[in-house]
Amino acid sequence: MSSLPATVPPFRRALAALVQWFDSDHAPGGADQVRAEPDRVEWVRCIPFIILHAGCFIVLWAGVSPFAVGTAVALYFLRMFAVTGIYHRYFSHRTYRTSRFGQFLLALWGATTVQRGALWWAYHHRNHHQHSDDPADAHSPHVHGFWWSHIGWITSRRNFPTDYSKLRDFTPYPELVWLNRFDTVVPILFATGLWGLGWLLELHAPGLHTTRWQLLGWGFFVSTTFLFHGTSCINSLAHLMGRRRFQTSDHSRNSWILTFITLGEGWHNNHHRYMSCTRQGFYWWEFDPTYYGLKLLSWTGFIWDLKPVPASVLAEAAAADHAGTIAAAERAALTHPEFSSFKKVVPAAAAMAMATLHASHGVAPRRTDPPAIQRDLTGLAQSSEVTPPGPSATQD
Ligand SMILES: [Zn+2]
Ligand SMILES: [Zn+2]
Repeated sequence: MSSLPATVPPFRRALAALVQWFDSDHAPGGADQVRAEPDRVEWVRCIPFIILHAGCFIVLWAGVSPFAVGTAVALYFLRMFAVTGIYHRYFSHRTYRTSRFGQFLLALWGATTVQRGALWWAYHHRNHHQHSDDPADAHSPHVHGFWWSHIGWITSRRNFPTDYSKLRDFTPYPELVWLNRFDTVVPILFATGLWGLGWLLELHAPGLHTTRWQLLGWGFFVSTTFLFHGTSCINSLAHLMGRRRFQTSDHSRNSWILTFITLGEGWHNNHHRYMSCTRQGFYWWEFDPTYYGLKLLSWTGFIWDLKPVPASVLAEAAAADHAGTIAAAERAALTHPEFSSFKKVVPAAAAMAMATLHASHGVAPRRTDPPAIQRDLTGLAQSSEVTPPGPSATQD
């Protein structure tokens, strides 16, 4: 991205983009001017992003080992937690609190995701909530189409600068601004560290059958590329697929599938309805591993003051679910008449009628006999009345 006017020669524009690889706040003409431009792909600025994808091909000649693949999977989920629990639920929405040192450690962890600095991420996400699915939303699939919302918007020059005026709560911390400005430092150190770890394992743990290039290929490039696309599903698919519990002003949806990919962010319609609570699965059955992880961290004292879902929002959710159930039953009756309630009632009513008919024709046990004790006494009385005198009496 360059902030130079359009009349600037291409080589100067490319030079500025090169500098921005290392200093993302480099903006000779001012960042406001860049943000005012129409969307346009800045290829030179995007080269590191392209390298991230191309680097996955390392595994074709580096080979594969269980340890390398396991590292890739573990780093996917550990860093997905950083995206959702740190960049999203802390820096974007402030849904819990921590110390100044704690937030610096969180920002470091988040930077290993290679999704740029915490402040850039939070700025764009706050803008997304402010303008969801309207033209000012940088990644709405309903405005810009699926691919632009998924990956294209990342390449647009107008989306590269951070608008610090929207981050007054974090700009007083120079350590956070530094990490945001030099946002390639941590990713480079992280990738180098994985490569170095692989080298150490080659030398000291040959039984793992892994190499430095496998850890770089699987642990960094493959894992990070999957992580990017997993995260991007929330920008694209979470506004396209799933169920809408709340009739929010945007197109956000709740999706179980996206929840597994993103550790709980699939409850996107819940989140758009109420963004300030720590959990996005509003009920225990709405799987939200990021929330469970944050809850564990809160027990250590590292973070605290996790924000709950307000009772009024839960009541609204219950009412919406109830209305949704009724609407679904009505739709089912219309589209599947064989399952209509009328056809369920008719067989039951017919069975009851047949049972009544049988009872009236004596199939049921008759109750005309008196109880057993009464019958015995009656028998005795009848016996004394009708029994003729015995032979001895006659003989008398
Ligand atoms: Zn959204
Ligand atoms: Zn959000």
